[in-house]
Amino acid sequence: MHPVVAIDGPSGAGKGTVARAVAHELGWPYVDTGAMYRAVAWRARDAGLSLEARDEERVAAVALNAAIEVGGERVAIDGHDVTGAIRTPEIDDAAARVARLPRVRAALVARQRQYAAVGPVVMEGRDIGTVVFPGAAVKVYLDASPAARAARRSTDPAHGLSRAGAIDVVADALAARDHLDRTRRASPLRRAPDATVLDTTGLQIESVVARVLEIVRACLGRG
Ligand code: C5P
Repeated sequence: MHPVVAIDGPSGAGKGTVARAVAHELGWPYVDTGAMYRAVAWRARDAGLSLEARDEERVAAVALNAAIEVGGERVAIDGHDVTGAIRTPEIDDAAARVARLPRVRAALVARQRQYAAVGPVVMEGRDIGTVVFPGAAVKVYLDASPAARAARRSTDPAHGLSRAGAIDVVADALAARDHLDRTRRASPLRRAPDATVLDTTGLQIESVVARVLEIVRACLGRG
């Protein structure tokens, strides 16, 4: 297995921006596993499937067989460009629902592991350091106060300008999604015991990126 930088944490902690910048600095590919769950949820809804246990087999078949592109600026599934379509409140909720289904997780985890068979990778998600790559060379858990996370998410252009300003609505939605992520049976969101925790509340993203790069260099023994 090639070296993996695993970046986990709840929504709005800054994972996406930090992971992307760290990958850029290292010259490694970046994989947004949340986008994989989102794309599967989009496709399942598009196909009229239920996101509950009764259609688990069919949703898992999507997770296993669909052509999924993540990593660059664009996210696509089976040829549909879903870059914008997966960043809506409906898909926030739908992704958290499909992520509760163990067979869907098993299919996506297997696909995520394949990246490290090809080369080093920076991977971002909820269970990268705990389940996908428990032996990852570097594990970082990013967290932030609920208010800071809601503020970040409500001004994130990737999540649609319609949400800008509605911080209390975003805060409620984040709290509901956190609850789903932390209480599910299959791979709940939790930090790996050997992860370095960084609280990003009040920090500029650049200083978080610099700190993560220091950790990466220390762990990989690169000065
Ligand atoms: O990170 P993002 O908010 O895009 O993730 C969308 C949803 O996908 C999360 O709410 C979570 O339920 C799920 N997810 C997961 N495991 C991951 C990445 C995302 O369960 N590794």
